Amino acid sequence: MKTQVAIIGSGPSGLLLGQLLHTQGIDNVIIEQRSQDYVLGRIRAGVLEQGMVNLLREAGASERMDREGDVHEGVFLAFNGKKVRVDLAGLTGGDTVMVYGQTEVTKDLMDARAKAGLTTIYEADNVQPHDFYTDSPSVTFTKDGEAITLECDYIAGCDGFHGISRKSVPQDKLKTFERVYPFGWLGVLSDTPPVSDELIYAKHERGFALCSMRSATRSRYYVQVPQDEHVEDWSDDRFWDELKKRLPPETATKLVTGPSIEKSIAPLRSFVAEPMKFGNLFLVGDAAHIVPPTGAKGLNLAASDVSTLYRALTATYQEGRADLLEKYSEVCLRRIWKAERFSWWMTSMLHRFGDDDFDQRIAQAELDYVTGSEAGLKTIAENYVGLPYEPLE
Ligand code: FAD
Repeated sequence: MKTQVAIIGSGPSGLLLGQLLHTQGIDNVIIEQRSQDYVLGRIRAGVLEQGMVNLLREAGASERMDREGDVHEGVFLAFNGKKVRVDLAGLTGGDTVMVYGQTEVTKDLMDARAKAGLTTIYEADNVQPHDFYTDSPSVTFTKDGEAITLECDYIAGCDGFHGISRKSVPQDKLKTFERVYPFGWLGVLSDTPPVSDELIYAKHERGFALCSMRSATRSRYYVQVPQDEHVEDWSDDRFWDELKKRLPPETATKLVTGPSIEKSIAPLRSFVAEPMKFGNLFLVGDAAHIVPPTGAKGLNLAASDVSTLYRALTATYQEGRADLLEKYSEVCLRRIWKAERFSWWMTSMLHRFGDDDFDQRIAQAELDYVTGSEAGLKTIAENYVGLPYEPLE
């Protein structure tokens, strides 16, 4: 098999990159180790920055998002029994975010890919990138017992944190930075109306909570839990009781509860791998970096990497500007580290880290300060809606 760009992984990074490249006539094949249903069944992010919304439009996969997605102009920070609104639009000169689930984004991109007749190979085993320091890289895999080699010009490693791409690069050429947090988020998805029209990030002495939503009838709630917690120990009743305790009383009394349709615990981690380019292999999205979800940045950072790689590849194929590909790491990492900082800061300010009273008071004072200062609110707003994409040159 032969293509121009071999893409490993059919998460949002791989699917979005594939679709954007297709709009420029650049051939690509996606190789995914899981089944299509498995990929579609993962419940993850739900807040899209304007930059990602624009990319989905550019990729021709935005019709349903534009119809069903919910534009949000603000978010709430709740603490000490009260709620403070961060007026995203007012503080940023009109910028907003779109609430539209990652599952829906994935589905729309898969549909667009099928419509365009592009090849995706699901349930591929033993996927392995080769020879990416040469001009003839390839990806090998087995499908239904048959060994296949995909020859290509470039490989995009869009295979997430546990993927094979980052593991395949010479480890002495890779530097990693990591912070693992001593807690996770227990998330519940339920077919109940959201407690608020806008997201609520709540700090409480029992721990952090988040009220989020996917639509007018589907809610997504989270509570901070210890790192070693087991989801089986959390009945729906226990979850709802705990969530109510962490919300301001007037919000808790309005909460509509119901059976969970998904319940899982996600660990929280900050991670960056540098560089993101190894010859003709490029790491994209979670393959190169992870943020704790407190700033709603994971999916959005994947989109900004995709944007940079797509523009550099387009310039390479259409104008012979391969020099732009050399800048891929540097351009991506500038924005990635700013989002890492914001996500770490929001996590530090809003979570309970332990029993150290001094740390608790400092985090409390910081939240009190930023929500009482226009400069503080503006800092949150401009990071939350998403910093501008870095130019390639
Ligand atoms: P992924 O979505 O991980 O996709 C990688 C794909 O590669 C997968 O389909 C995988 O099966 C495939 N793959 C892996 N290994 C191989 C291989 N060897 N060969 C072939 N294919 C392979 N972000 C937020 O902003 N807000 C949230 O609330 C939020 N919640 C999250 C909850 C969870 C449980 C997780 C795990 C992540 C969450 N994130 C959240 C982060 C966000 O979902 C990711 O940043 C986003 O999915 C990144 O997309 P990606 O395509 O780079 O990676």
